[in-house]
Amino acid sequence: MDVSSEPSCSSQSEKIVKCTRRHQDDTDEEEEEIKHRRHNVPSSKLSTSIYEYLVLISIILIIFAAFRNSVTWHLQVFWNRSADLWQHLWDQFLDYAGEDEFTLFVWWTTIYTFCIYWFFGAIYTILDITNKPKFIRKYKIQPNTNEPLDKKKLRRVILQVIFNQIFVGVPFAIFSYYALKFRGFPEIRELPTFHWVLFELGICILVEEFGFYYSHRFLHSKHIYKRIHKKHHEWQAPVAVTAIYAHPIEHIFSNILPPFLGVFICRSHLATSWLWFTMALLSTLNAHSGYHFPFFPSPEAHDFHHFKFNYNFGMLGLLDRVHGTDSLFRMSPQGQRHLMLLSFIPAHEQFPDKPKKSS
Ligand SMILES: [Zn+2]
Ligand SMILES: [Zn+2]
Repeated sequence: MDVSSEPSCSSQSEKIVKCTRRHQDDTDEEEEEIKHRRHNVPSSKLSTSIYEYLVLISIILIIFAAFRNSVTWHLQVFWNRSADLWQHLWDQFLDYAGEDEFTLFVWWTTIYTFCIYWFFGAIYTILDITNKPKFIRKYKIQPNTNEPLDKKKLRRVILQVIFNQIFVGVPFAIFSYYALKFRGFPEIRELPTFHWVLFELGICILVEEFGFYYSHRFLHSKHIYKRIHKKHHEWQAPVAVTAIYAHPIEHIFSNILPPFLGVFICRSHLATSWLWFTMALLSTLNAHSGYHFPFFPSPEAHDFHHFKFNYNFGMLGLLDRVHGTDSLFRMSPQGQRHLMLLSFIPAHEQFPDKPKKSS
């Protein structure tokens, strides 16, 4: 849909209100239609979709089994060739920072994660404030939202996020240090092997899905939502830096405990922990960015959560599937768009809001 061809509103704020209202009306209609469709799915259609789903899984499993060894072999060769370089860089860092485990785990982890969050968060924020370059607007998940960005609201986000990172993050890092000390730290100078890093990342991702899904779902219970989680949902159309804009209690139990649990269970090397924290931070910044860019993992699911509140509580979508909390999403246009774009055609163009019905 070409939004520029729609009738223009007289003032900027009026335009935002009208556009939001229009957007909301459209989506309410869509929701009704989806609910209607859901209750009228014929059983033959249902069994066909299950069959298609099973065929797809089988194909993925066969491809994975066929290429697993060769792919990991090539990655292993790459890792071994670059291992000396990584080890050299790690040694240089330790020579500079020292080997004191408390300093490394508490202070350097805080500095490192702070820099990652704000470096990439700043890039997204510049895009949001300037709304330039113009062509990126066609990748917006909820068109016309945050144009212009509310600076007062943004300032509140920045202050709360910095508060969380320092006054919640640092005490939690000290607690984590003692928890990990209890488990025993691995040899700090020696980097882990490639396969071990992959294995630990896999465990961390699954633990995060489990921890985030259930803590997040608990945050949506009536009384807890009002007191704690409502703050994070002030942004119905989120922007990247709202990723950890949350009440401090939510920040502990939903944002930092689930990623830390994987590290604790695996007794991960500090370098593996930092790699995992980087992945988790980039993933949540992307999930809240409000943009579905080509060749990026799809942020549609969590954006839909902010849009509709009671769907898509997880990170991977696995537990949402198990509990059926993705039902509306899977039948919505946003659900169709939930894939990595492999061309520069925006998701809205590939999967329009109201597909033409066949008569
Ligand atoms: Zn969120
Ligand atoms: Zn939520």
